[in-house]
Amino acid sequence: MTRQTALSFLATFRYDLLSLQKTFAMPKHYANSCVDCGTQNCKFKDRTYPEFCPTTNLTPEDLEWSLERYNHDNNHAIMVASAEVEYEGYCQLTRVEEIMQFARKINAHKIGIANCIGLIKEARIFAKILRANGFEPYAVICKVAGKDKSSIGIPVCCEEIGAAMCNPILQARLLNQTKTDLNVVIGLCVGHDSLFYKYSDAYATTLITKDRITGNNPAAAIYTAESYYKKKFNL
Ligand code: SF4
Repeated sequence: MTRQTALSFLATFRYDLLSLQKTFAMPKHYANSCVDCGTQNCKFKDRTYPEFCPTTNLTPEDLEWSLERYNHDNNHAIMVASAEVEYEGYCQLTRVEEIMQFARKINAHKIGIANCIGLIKEARIFAKILRANGFEPYAVICKVAGKDKSSIGIPVCCEEIGAAMCNPILQARLLNQTKTDLNVVIGLCVGHDSLFYKYSDAYATTLITKDRITGNNPAAAIYTAESYYKKKFNL
């Protein structure tokens, strides 16, 4: 048995095991998806596809639709630049460096920063790094305009932790007016980031994802979900 055949066999065996585990441990009503797959054959190609696999259940139109979109706007340049940054900096560059490398590749000079007020220090340091590397940063903080939360119908009780509302749509508009070439999110709240991404004209990426409990390291909750946080997540 070659090494590849053995690996393929093990991957299939693992998938079967995972399926068995699910059969006995999971409620019947949920739909299987890629998180339930033990083979990842879309990447490896020498294993088996589970029956619920989106790759094998795909319509040609869906695939064609996605591939066509890579020729829209600047999407193709973004894809090439992303792949090159991943390849050239693999396990060598920090995300800060990757963002700058990516920006250079897409000829982005004016870099918008949409930051949370709680991460103003981090935003200042990032702007300093950008300037030191020849970029032109322009930041808009989340509390810009300083409207009260209740003024737009947010329940008054939410003002107990601070009356001023975050305004991600205005952050996006001001960065759009500045004609930033690339926007970088630093610590916007869950949901505020969604609105920012929706209204940002420039392509947007994230430097820091806010997590008040884990020191802005949301992955820590995932890494401890099967130990310290098991009860917290009802696992
Ligand atoms: S696309 Fe198919 S093979 Fe790939 S992870 Fe999802 S289910 Fe598995």
